[in-house]
Amino acid sequence: MFRSALVVTITFALGPAVPLALAQHEQHGGGKHGEEHGKPAQFKMPATYKEGVAEIQHRLHEIEELIASKELDQVHAQADVIQKVGNVLGQLALKRDSGVPKDAIKVVNKAGRELAAKFDAIDKAGDSGDLAGTRRVYEEMVSVTATLQKYVAKAFACPMKCEGGKTYSSPGTCPKCGMALKEVSPARGPHGGLIAWSGDQNCRVEATLSKDNEIRVYLCDEKSKPLSADRAAVQAHAGQEGAQHYSVTLAPDASKSFLRGRIAAAVKPPFLLMLKIDLGDSGKPQTVTIDFEAPTDMPHKEHEEQQGHKGDEHKGHRP
Ligand SMILES: [Zn+2]
Repeated sequence: MFRSALVVTITFALGPAVPLALAQHEQHGGGKHGEEHGKPAQFKMPATYKEGVAEIQHRLHEIEELIASKELDQVHAQADVIQKVGNVLGQLALKRDSGVPKDAIKVVNKAGRELAAKFDAIDKAGDSGDLAGTRRVYEEMVSVTATLQKYVAKAFACPMKCEGGKTYSSPGTCPKCGMALKEVSPARGPHGGLIAWSGDQNCRVEATLSKDNEIRVYLCDEKSKPLSADRAAVQAHAGQEGAQHYSVTLAPDASKSFLRGRIAAAVKPPFLLMLKIDLGDSGKPQTVTIDFEAPTDMPHKEHEEQQGHKGDEHKGHRP
């Protein structure tokens, strides 16, 4: 029934980049989770626009985890951080080296305020145990955040580091070796993954890769509203550019919020992941390329383990 195809290509390249959300995590004073309702979440006010957007994405991810585990009374603390950061994004964008174009500062300021203003709605829905309502406001917040992400400055550099740390603001080729420049720490999605759009801009794809080769794919529509993972039939292949590709079985998670699968152990970063996604609308097959530098941040349990946290305090209150 659902028969339009979308092809997604994801490259993993080894690099020194620390996953943004991991770096963020370390600033939160030991990753304290599970604050009681009413207690403010520990966080450090971001100093740059890029950090501000990353903090919001991190908090949205926390909210999604809370929705999944039905701990709605704790949404409050995360939404509180989003409100505080959302209200200062305009100021951060005004900083001289924020990377936000002058003509976009108004847009960014408005989106930040809009996001902050959703605090009451999500707090109210969370406190009354309204799962569908909480999710609906969360999805609106994800959409607004996509606008903020658009203006995070991009930097490109030669993958061979011919010019050391020199970066360019747009893609191109290295003047020394001629290789295509790669994006340095590309923008992250709400799950800490890398983002790409289908060629027709009708579908946004976010993909994460854990250190143990699990891949997760989150699909959104053109307004960055999450799509149910079971409406897409997906074929996937992974392999290095110009080398053998291995097929990857991707299936919807029980929550239907993402597709998951495992990449063959023989495939190590950097590599390409090519997804052929059948979205079930009238769209034609689409090709998307995501360029990864290394495994990305992963949902809760995984990244707490990666950082050597015990993780028990979080697992402990899961059903
Ligand atoms: Zn070069």
